[in-house]
Amino acid sequence: MKQLLTFTIVAIITASCGTHQGDWYQIQELDRSTYIISEPLSSQRNSCFLIIGEQEAILLDAGTGENKMQSMAQVADSLSPVPITLLLSHFHFDHIGGASDFKAIGLPALPFLMNRLSADSILALTKTDVLSDDTLCLKISKLYSVGTAIDLGKRKIQVLHTPGHSKASITLIDHARRYIFTGDLIYNDLLLINNCEAYLQSINTIDAHSNSGYRIFGSHGTAEVNYKHLAKVKKAILAYQAGDGSFDSIKNLCFFGTPKEVYQKGDVAFMVGYTDVFDH
Ligand SMILES: [Zn+2]
Repeated sequence: MKQLLTFTIVAIITASCGTHQGDWYQIQELDRSTYIISEPLSSQRNSCFLIIGEQEAILLDAGTGENKMQSMAQVADSLSPVPITLLLSHFHFDHIGGASDFKAIGLPALPFLMNRLSADSILALTKTDVLSDDTLCLKISKLYSVGTAIDLGKRKIQVLHTPGHSKASITLIDHARRYIFTGDLIYNDLLLINNCEAYLQSINTIDAHSNSGYRIFGSHGTAEVNYKHLAKVKKAILAYQAGDGSFDSIKNLCFFGTPKEVYQKGDVAFMVGYTDVFDH
């Protein structure tokens, strides 16, 4: 859990001036071609992940877009010697904020997403997709196969479909370097579950494609997640489904103006059915 402390902080990029105080982007080097770009001062404490191959790089998520003085695209471009394609872990507002600044945007080749592409490859996101009134149209320039590895140039990345937080959620795995990037499925803070069965299945999928020698990175809070968290989250969801009363606490929380229950079991906290809060 404390492995994050061993990361090398190679740079702090500061907005030159403007509406935000302090250091907006924090860059951590996992290795010479993998970076975590975090926004610790943002509303959701997001992290994005830059995965660089010899021909192409993928940036997983576009950041919040809350810093109007310097974009996530500018920061990612400063780190990558090869062209970057933006790939979104899912379409919620806090992951797509900086998407319009990217020239190349990829889409996982999931049939239910491909069916929504227009003739000129536009994916029109809805309020339900983004959980906000601020919708967006994405010009898709590349499709990434799901399940089989994609080649970035001497670097292969596997895209897995891992719904449960959102229907379109994906996880990226670098098997050679043993990294797993889980988006909003697994991270250290309060988890938001939309579909318990899908969530459990997605945890099983990640488990089936990895082992405890892999390092997991999530999109909110402290980026690195202990591998054991996978099993803990699964156990907590199963307890919820069973109604076995084994939770340490069940607390009420006002979530975007709507009262919700937060279930706590050990260091796992989650809320179920959060998307109804955003129904308009
Ligand atoms: Zn989300």
